[in-house]
Amino acid sequence: MASADLIKKLENTIENIPDFPIPGIQFKDISPIFLDPKLYEEVIADLAAASKGKVDAVCGIESRGYLFGIAIAVALEVPFILIRKKGKLPPPIISEKYDLEYGSAEIETREGQIKKGQRILIHDDLLATGGTTEAAAKLIEKQGATVAQFSFLIGLKSLNGDEKLKKFGAEVYHILEY
Ligand code: AMP
Repeated sequence: MASADLIKKLENTIENIPDFPIPGIQFKDISPIFLDPKLYEEVIADLAAASKGKVDAVCGIESRGYLFGIAIAVALEVPFILIRKKGKLPPPIISEKYDLEYGSAEIETREGQIKKGQRILIHDDLLATGGTTEAAAKLIEKQGATVAQFSFLIGLKSLNGDEKLKKFGAEVYHILEY
């Protein structure tokens, strides 16, 4: 559980942009966090503490999952693995297809970077519908590893992303909820 002080600082820093990128969406802009290196350090310390001793590697989801994910992995002294959108990683790769509201998408990791039996932290900046995170979890299980934890800066309660992740039996941690 993050400190009330950190939650307050983040609430005052993250900008809410209504109707972006399409009408009806409340876009949470995390970019002001990077203007404040002390606050960034506090975020990493909190996310790393939440996962300490629980995970053997961190997987970050492209692209905002890299902004904090790599620093979490460095703080925990464990490997970081990139989960990328289709077509960005050189072969050999392992991929997972998933449905979007319109059409489908695919995510990939490089084969061999995730090891069998590893306990994995899946990290992204924000949990919305959980569609991308669910696909990431399937991609990890497909490689004989287990999802030990999910972490996010922000969880959007109204979209029930947590529900989609329940079946993986892993803790879902977020600093802030809207
Ligand atoms: P989802 O698969 O629906 O959980 O979408 C998660 C991804 O979409 C995250 O990586 C976020 O970066 C991005 N995203 C979704 N909704 C928002 C939002 N309201 N504000 C900012 N980013 C969002």
